[in-house]
Amino acid sequence: MQFPSYAAEMIGRLREAGFSAYAVGGCVRDSLLGREPNDWDITTSARPHETEAVFLDPRYRVRTGNGLKHGTVTVSLADDSRAVCEITTYRADGEYSDHRRPDAVRFVSDIREDLSRRDFTVNAMAAAPLPDGTVELVDLFGGQDDLAAGILRCVGDPMCRFDEDALRILRGLRFAARYGFTVEERTADGMRTLAPLLSQIAPERIGTELTGILSGVHCGPIIQQFGDILRRILPGCSPENASELLTRADSWVLRTALLCRDCAPEKLCGTLMRYALGASVTERILRMLVHRSAPLADHRDLCRLADTFGEEGVREYFAFLLALCPEDPDVAKAYARTIRLFAPGVCYNTATLAVDGRMLREAGIPPGPALGRMLRTLTDAVIEGTLPNRREELLAAVQVYKEENK
Ligand code: ATP
Ligand code: MG
Repeated sequence: MQFPSYAAEMIGRLREAGFSAYAVGGCVRDSLLGREPNDWDITTSARPHETEAVFLDPRYRVRTGNGLKHGTVTVSLADDSRAVCEITTYRADGEYSDHRRPDAVRFVSDIREDLSRRDFTVNAMAAAPLPDGTVELVDLFGGQDDLAAGILRCVGDPMCRFDEDALRILRGLRFAARYGFTVEERTADGMRTLAPLLSQIAPERIGTELTGILSGVHCGPIIQQFGDILRRILPGCSPENASELLTRADSWVLRTALLCRDCAPEKLCGTLMRYALGASVTERILRMLVHRSAPLADHRDLCRLADTFGEEGVREYFAFLLALCPEDPDVAKAYARTIRLFAPGVCYNTATLAVDGRMLREAGIPPGPALGRMLRTLTDAVIEGTLPNRREELLAAVQVYKEENK
C-alpha cells in the first residue's frame, strides 16, 4: 500500500508527538483495491487542540471551524493546498435518536472503538506507514477478506446499524454500485427491512446518494436487486430490467431518465427538485421523458427536436431512445439525420436561418410581430425545402412578399 508523502508525513508527525494515528476509511479501501483515493483521512488519538498544536509550524496550514465539534482539524502543506488531510480524533458515537446523526460524539483513545462505529467492513480499516517501510494495517472486522471477495458487509448487526443511521442503506448501495460488490445477505435483509426509515432522511442527502448510486459502473444489477428501495426514493420508477438497461447508458442523468421512463413528469419533477439535483439536470431528464414518443418520421420533426434539445441534448436524447430500443433502425436513422442538422449552414430554426431580424428591418419589414412572423415563415419555407438557406434568395423572397402585400 502506497501513501502520498504528505499523508505519511502527517501520520509520522502525530506518532512522533506520542499519539497514535492512521489513515482510515475510503483511502485505505481504495488503496487496497489499487484505486486512487479521493482524499486521505487520518484518525488519531490526539484531541483536536493537540492536533492543532502538533501542526503549529510554518510548514503547515491548519483549519478548524465547523468540523471541530466532530473532532476534525484540516491540515494542509503551506505550499500546496491540495496536500490536505482531515485529521479526526478517535470517536465513539452516542445514541442515535433521529436515525441519522448521533446525539453526541465522545472522543476515545482506542482506535478499536473508532473503527467499530464505521459503517461497512471495507470502510473500517486503518493503515499507517512504519519507519521500516512496512505498513501497519488494522483490520478488526475482516475488511481485507471482504474486499478480496467483493462483499459489502455491515460492521456489527445490520439491523442496528441501519436503524442508527438509515442513510447507510444508500451509502451501501452506492459502494456496491461503484465497486460491483455483492451485498452480504444479512446486510441486504437489513437494508430492505429498514428502508422505510429513509423517509426521515433529509432529501438533499438522499439526492447525493442517489446520484452516487446511479454513477456507479455496476449500478444496473444493484438497482434491479434492490428495486423496492429504489421505488421508495424514486416513486414510479421501473427497476425491473435495470441490469440490462442501465448498462447501455454512461451517465447518471441518462440512467435516471431510463429508470424513470414511465414516471409522470410532474411527479418526477417534484421528486427531483426535492432532492436538489439542480434545475438544469432536472429539466434535461424531464425533457427526455416528455419527448419519449416524439415523431421522428420527417425532416420537420427532426428540426423541431434539434431546436428543442440543441446538439448536446440531441445526443443525449438519442442515447436514451437507443437504450430503450437498441434494435430500432428508424431511431438510428433519425439520429444520424438529426446530427447532420448541426452542420454549418443548415437551418433548423430561426437562429440558424441565413437572415436575422436586423436584416429584415433593413429590408423594410417594420419591427414588431410582423417581423417575427416573417422570420418564422422563412424558416418554415427553408425547412420545407421551398427556399434555400441563403441570404440573397431569402431577402429576394422578402421583397416579393412586400410587393404582394402592398
Ligand atoms: P468516498 O470515496 O465516497 O468518499 P468514503 O468511504 O471516503 O467514500 P466518506 O463519506 O468520505 O466515505 O466517509 C469516510 C469514512 O467515514 C467512511 O469510509 C466510513 O468509515 C466513515 N463513515 C462515513 N459516513 C458514515 C456513516 N454514515 N456511518 C458510519 N460510518 C461512516
Ligand atoms: Mg471520502
